[in-house]
Amino acid sequence: MNIANHLVRAGAARGKRPAVAIGGTILQTYAQLADRAARIAAALRNTYGLKPGDRVVLAMKNCPEYMEVMYGCWHAGLIAVPTNAKLHGREFAYIMANSGARVCFATGDLVEVLASVMAPPLERVIEVGREEYGRMQMSEAMSCATRAPQDGAWLFYTSGTTGQPKGAELSHRNLLAMLFCYFADMDQGAPWDAILHAAPISHGSGLYGLAHVTQASCHVLPESGGFDPAEIYRIIRQWPGLVFFAAPTMLKRLVDHPEDMDTSNLKQIHYGGGPMYVADCRAGLDRFGPKLAQLYGQGESPMTITALTRQMHADSAHPRWLERLGSVGTAQSVVEVRIADEDDNFLPVGETGEILVRGDAVMNGYWDNPEATAAALKGGWLHTGDMGAFDAEGFLTLKDRSKDMIISGGTNIYPREIEEVLLRHPGVAEVSVIGRDDPDWGEVVIAYVVAGEGGVAPAALDAFCLDNIARFKRPKGYRFVTELPKNNYGKVLKTALREADATES
Ligand code: AMP
Repeated sequence: MNIANHLVRAGAARGKRPAVAIGGTILQTYAQLADRAARIAAALRNTYGLKPGDRVVLAMKNCPEYMEVMYGCWHAGLIAVPTNAKLHGREFAYIMANSGARVCFATGDLVEVLASVMAPPLERVIEVGREEYGRMQMSEAMSCATRAPQDGAWLFYTSGTTGQPKGAELSHRNLLAMLFCYFADMDQGAPWDAILHAAPISHGSGLYGLAHVTQASCHVLPESGGFDPAEIYRIIRQWPGLVFFAAPTMLKRLVDHPEDMDTSNLKQIHYGGGPMYVADCRAGLDRFGPKLAQLYGQGESPMTITALTRQMHADSAHPRWLERLGSVGTAQSVVEVRIADEDDNFLPVGETGEILVRGDAVMNGYWDNPEATAAALKGGWLHTGDMGAFDAEGFLTLKDRSKDMIISGGTNIYPREIEEVLLRHPGVAEVSVIGRDDPDWGEVVIAYVVAGEGGVAPAALDAFCLDNIARFKRPKGYRFVTELPKNNYGKVLKTALREADATES
């Protein structure tokens, strides 16, 4: 089963329905979207010579062409590699090399940086909307390629604790399982008219967008291309039955926005991807009414580990309502979720351990990385690296992130990656990077530095980071210390560092 069949079906049966819009302006119907995807597919196969299973990188910010490119890849039997558009050129280069892609689609803002790091086997960077892209639309549409359920569809690059991203290979079956859970656990019932892509399509918003293709409902992009609360409220007024995915920080910005706009059109906001504080959740419920649902997932089990439904959010009469709001809900329908100790022994209710997941949503493995795959899928269970505990009613509460990952503005940042860059600077002897709680961003990145001989200024380190990693990952603050707290084995005690930072800041 090729997931692109959903678009073929929507184009044929519900072809006149709006498929893509910017703000209130409809740009394409489902018939047009399906036709354009089938032509892109034909060009990729016939003009560019790609074969089923080949990878195609999508280095694109949200744009009207996103859905047709992604479905075009699947229609052709290829594996789409959607990437975070804010990555550094070197990070794009790594993903292009690791995935072995020969073709990359890019939005205009990224063409130059991609061209500067382009290396074989990558042959072409195609700018969406320009001449070469237009020529692809001249190809004769092909019929949808046959794919087996376990064949790869989406390579989802997550940053690893080692600093190098790993490509979680998601199959057509994984994406179908995610869709099943979307309807069973996140957004049951009445149809909706539109999904707003307020967050990157390369991540959760795009994954949930697949559900909207099955229902032929419209994909709406903000005109600004960014996240502007006033604009989001305007779009809510324009589109009845609107749903969208938002990172907790986005939801907070919407709640804090002063204008008291009518939100009766809104059907549901799906939030997740980072911790949501109970106070913020309650403020969201006060602002929007019972229209919030939470998901907990990760690239390796996309959007699909647990869910806290709209009904659970609304059930304020329940004696443990507040505890439930502080949880990530119950296991989604296609997965089993367990808590285990360091030796993979399952732990009873109430005990904290690593969260393990098994089921049809769990990735095939990491692309071209058998060691990391074996470790992550040991014993047939996905080891999430997250710590948590179940209560007696099956609600999971996350306790800590065992990998020391920082989540800033809903985006994951791995300290090790930044530490490795900073340690390359001659003025840095030692460094440890931690997250500091922040009311706007959830967490911000702070670097604790032991300077080398001669010392170093924060501005120099900032410039060095700008040259080497994505802007959003660089530290927002530097603290210079004479030594870092360490255990007997010389390993930096990040917990001690975080505690000291919290009392000092
Ligand atoms: P990613 O692979 O980029 O989707 O990031 C996944 C990680 O984000 C998870 O392993 C969790 O640490 C975190 N995360 C995802 N959803 C939630 C949630 N609802 N609450 C808290 N943390 C979350």
